[in-house]
Amino acid sequence: MTRASVAVIGAGVVGASAAYHLAARGWRDILVLDRAARPGTGSTGAATGGFRAQFASDTNVHLSLLARERLRAFRSETGVDPGLIEAGYLWLARRAADLEALRAALAVQRRSGFMEAREVDAREALALNPAVSPHGILGGAHAATDGFLRPLAILDGYLRGAERRGVTIRFGAEATAFRREAPDSSIDAVRVGSEWISVGAVVNAAGPWAAEVASAAGLSIPVKPLRRQALASAPFGRLPATMPMTIWVDDGFHARVRDGRVLALMPTPGDPDDPTSIRVDPSWVSDVTRIARERLPILREADFEGGTAWAGLYEMSPDGHALLGAAPGCPNLYLANGSSGHGVMHAPALGLLLAEIMTDGKASSMDVAALDPGRFAAGKTETRELL
Ligand SMILES: Cc1cc2nc3c(=O)[nH]c(=O)nc-3n(C[C@H](O)[C@H](O)[C@H](O)COP(=O)(O)OP(=O)(O)OC[C@H]3O[C@@H](n4cnc5c(N)ncnc54)[C@H](O)[C@@H]3O)c2cc1C
Repeated sequence: MTRASVAVIGAGVVGASAAYHLAARGWRDILVLDRAARPGTGSTGAATGGFRAQFASDTNVHLSLLARERLRAFRSETGVDPGLIEAGYLWLARRAADLEALRAALAVQRRSGFMEAREVDAREALALNPAVSPHGILGGAHAATDGFLRPLAILDGYLRGAERRGVTIRFGAEATAFRREAPDSSIDAVRVGSEWISVGAVVNAAGPWAAEVASAAGLSIPVKPLRRQALASAPFGRLPATMPMTIWVDDGFHARVRDGRVLALMPTPGDPDDPTSIRVDPSWVSDVTRIARERLPILREADFEGGTAWAGLYEMSPDGHALLGAAPGCPNLYLANGSSGHGVMHAPALGLLLAEIMTDGKASSMDVAALDPGRFAAGKTETRELL
């Protein structure tokens, strides 16, 4: 293909969803470019598959509710099971300030139409997850409709669905340069290897590498990669697959069960924001193993040493919210990145909304003002998230 109506840079779950939804809105000659050799090698392949609407900002709650609607229809729409399991998310507070933060988030969730979440006292929290050590638990919040999904199944569903609608997807195809007549003008061609492909529009869905892609087009966007590590135990049959995702608000430690293994995650303050640093830190593994066994004592019997650990990159924006819409300074470059660790769960909504923006000039499924890529220059930002 030497001409594309739109080139989507990045065939992760966000780019795949964007391509799928653009094709569904009637766009033709869509080209998806990914420099990796195969699907799922970026952040999407590292994600553990949490899904929740328990957020602290209206915009993230609305994104989750829209995504949930899309996910519930995903199988009939794409033919692929997204693995949606409503096992619940249980947040635990050990400090009064954390309980207050959960209450404030619950108020936002209600205001945004998410009524399933509610405050629970310590006794109820421990009944929802009896494996938790009661030590220090003051109470928490729970929503039974939050839970899990399968990131690679969603990626597969969107890629295959996009192809069925005529989208061309090229792996091993790195976008290295963008041709523009003048600094404020549109992009008219994308370079891949020695080839220049003429384009009508470009979508930057390059996840944690979105700033690099923007920079190749002469633009600066505030999206930074941030390492996140995950640990999976060897198979462990003592916890049910339906155990809710359980999160301690104070340090963000969280645990769940996936495919018979326990997954334990915890953010590390001061983690390197260097995209080349996707390596697992052995001291993080021993810390998170110890903490997992303190918080869920039954995990003293789990074999983490014989399990696996991996690291991937979040795509952080300054306010923890996605950048969605036309890039300031380049009318036909659209951004769909910066989800700050929530990109899989929000991809079904982001792709739909981007297709609305690119087709009709504005999103109709929800108010996306808080995701406007121009907000940082204008000094407008939403509050940061709990996690
Ligand atoms: C450990 C971990 C756990 C996570 N858990 C969750 C979770 O439970 N729930 C959730 O919603 N999210 C989770 N996330 C976050 C989630 O993975 C991301 O938000 C999401 O995958 C972002 O998708 P993406 O398509 O934007 O990025 P990616 O999947 O990284 O895709 C970007 C693609 O762009 C390509 N690319 C980059 N530069 C170029 C170029 N110049 N030319 C061509 N191609 C290029 C890359 O090869 C890559 O395939 C987790 C992340 C990590 C690391």
